[in-house]
Amino acid sequence: MIPALFLDRDGVINVDTGYAHRAEHIRFVDGIFQLCRVFQASGFALVVITNQAGVARGYYSEDDVRALHAWMSAQFARRGVTLTGAYYCPHHPEGTLADLAIACDCRKPQPGMILRAQRELDLDLSASVLIGDRESDIQAGINAGIPINLKMESAEGQSASRAAAVLPGLAAAVHHARHLGILPKSATA
Ligand SMILES: [Mg+2]
Ligand SMILES: [Zn+2]
Repeated sequence: MIPALFLDRDGVINVDTGYAHRAEHIRFVDGIFQLCRVFQASGFALVVITNQAGVARGYYSEDDVRALHAWMSAQFARRGVTLTGAYYCPHHPEGTLADLAIACDCRKPQPGMILRAQRELDLDLSASVLIGDRESDIQAGINAGIPINLKMESAEGQSASRAAAVLPGLAAAVHHARHLGILPKSATA
């Protein structure tokens, strides 16, 4: 088993512009590649977990999501980062596509995507880290038993959070992980 860095997508990997589903919608967040290189160098798998209610709402298809994730994987690979997995939840209870308009067990804050990744990729959740920008991300990590859930400051504001820390950016997440001893102090990439 290896530890994983679980990454929410919209608002952590790419700037959250609302229902992004094509490459031209993607602007990568400052520091995302560096963050991934540092965790990768310390033996972490890198796993994307993203709620994509736009599928249930009929805004775009699961094929669109998969194509975008394949494109993203290639963008990461060009920068020396291997994305180990990318999981999405296409559901939403108020969706317009009947078979996806359900209360599923994968839409965060439910832990379903994390638990599925754990089984499929043989991950050690007790040594894993999650980074999100919404409280539902943090709660999903807690529900899955991940001990360190970090929250990026976001449009959600600074209301009370169950995150281990609320941080101003991804560089701060690297510093915080070093401070906690998750990453070696000397890790560079
Ligand atoms: Mg997000
Ligand atoms: Zn779901």
